[in-house]
Amino acid sequence: MIKKQHIETGLVFDGDDKSDPYGAVVPPVYQNSLFTFDSWEALERAFSDKENSVIYTRGNNPTVQYTEGKLALLAGGEKAKLFSSGMAAVSAGILHFLSQGDHLITVSNIYGPTATLIRNMLVPKMGVEVTYVSGNCLEEIAKAIRPNTSLIYLESPSSVIFSLQDLKQISLLAKEHDIATMIDNTWATPLYQKPLALGIDLEMHSCSKYLGGHSDIIGGVLIGSQSLINNISMKEYELLGAASSPNDASMLLRSLRTFPIRMERHQQNAMRIAEFLDNHEKVAEVFYPGLASFKQALLAGQQMTGFSGLFSFKLKTDNLVLIKNFFNTLKLFQKGVSWGGHESLIYAPAISCSVEQTPEHMKRMGISLSNMRVSIGLENADDLIADLTNALDNI
Ligand SMILES: *Cc1c(COP(=O)(O)O)cnc(C)c1O
Repeated sequence: MIKKQHIETGLVFDGDDKSDPYGAVVPPVYQNSLFTFDSWEALERAFSDKENSVIYTRGNNPTVQYTEGKLALLAGGEKAKLFSSGMAAVSAGILHFLSQGDHLITVSNIYGPTATLIRNMLVPKMGVEVTYVSGNCLEEIAKAIRPNTSLIYLESPSSVIFSLQDLKQISLLAKEHDIATMIDNTWATPLYQKPLALGIDLEMHSCSKYLGGHSDIIGGVLIGSQSLINNISMKEYELLGAASSPNDASMLLRSLRTFPIRMERHQQNAMRIAEFLDNHEKVAEVFYPGLASFKQALLAGQQMTGFSGLFSFKLKTDNLVLIKNFFNTLKLFQKGVSWGGHESLIYAPAISCSVEQTPEHMKRMGISLSNMRVSIGLENADDLIADLTNALDNI
């Protein structure tokens, strides 16, 4: 992999793939479960370097490895491991650092399924202790540290209200106490935020969002030092078995070629629409880290070089009939979960949170009925604004 060039070039250039005898311009998909060897000795050699050897696709596969190389390049990490989903990557990373009875520090507004993993599995099954912190106060985190704290798990910006954590300060604090740090970096993307360079040990992304970008694959990735990723490969990756399929890896590779261009447009569109909503009389508050009026705009500018297209806003009304009117009137904004694809989406976190989360968790996350989450796609921004204007006129 050529390291000195710009990211865009590294993501487009596949001339370093020498695996194909025909000079195919697009790397072939190795849709194989296993790979064969000439001899006993050759098999022995492969097993002695199992972290890198292509033996069985639950461990390694050439197509998956090639895509992992691009993801590592993008994040500025030594090595990446591609999983079958973002949650597979989250679970593998967290389980790697936590042992029975360990203490975990995390932020209140983490992604719902991650909160459920902690509450319904790690706490009752492994006796893990957990402290939730707001994340925007270093002293609060320092105070939460116990002798058995083994992991600080971050998500910056966090889900729903998009509050930030100071990655550099927190990683320094963690190093002082010999505590590992992991971040869910899905929102900012590896293009706009580089946690590894700020001292975070392990970076995670759901590739189902912007990295895939077309709402047609589920995937997840962990990126970090070679030794850490090798360790996770041999344990949580191979043994829990949530390996990426070669076909999905190849679709992700294709998506990565247009990733920087797509992000530019997501960001432009989101900024315009966030500003439009921020100035609208029927909107109470907009939570978008790219806005000049955003509470943590200073920190956002310090540790991110750009912003993605997912944000939320609160309608002034808390009348459910009017809220539903607004939601159901939208046409270009399709109604559904997830985000980060080419298409604009709207979702009300209260819909699933009231079913999946406890009232306390909803309160901690600051979720109310009037909270609307939008994923701004690649449509023309004027058309999206017209759709929103029409729906807001309805309440
Ligand atoms: C979607 C998402 C995940 C989980 O990813 P999947 O690919 O859906 O398993 C984790 N964190 C955040 C912030 C997400 O939005």
